[in-house]
Amino acid sequence: MIRVCEHCGKELLNRGSICDLCVCGGENIHSFWKCSGCDSFYYNDYYDCWDSENPDELWFEISESTFNEGRSRIAACPEPSRKLCNCPLHPFSIPLEGAKRLQ
Ligand SMILES: [Zn+2]
Ligand SMILES: [Zn+2]
Repeated sequence: MIRVCEHCGKELLNRGSICDLCVCGGENIHSFWKCSGCDSFYYNDYYDCWDSENPDELWFEISESTFNEGRSRIAACPEPSRKLCNCPLHPFSIPLEGAKRLQ
């Protein structure tokens, strides 16, 4: 799903994604986004599950520090697009305290 900024309505730019294995065997893609119009940051948790017809996703508005932390974690993984990567960054997680869940 294409999403625009909650604050200024501008397009969000993908600044990094990492792919994980979902418990069902499908894919769980974690992505970090920055607004093209203002200093707003977003995180998207996308599930493409084998046991569900439609992909499901969660969106959060996050702080700049969480955004930077997420990007540095992705940068530390040798193969972010490989869901079966077994580096210490997999399975991927990011602390979301203070993040705002979006509908
Ligand atoms: Zn914005
Ligand atoms: Zn990895």
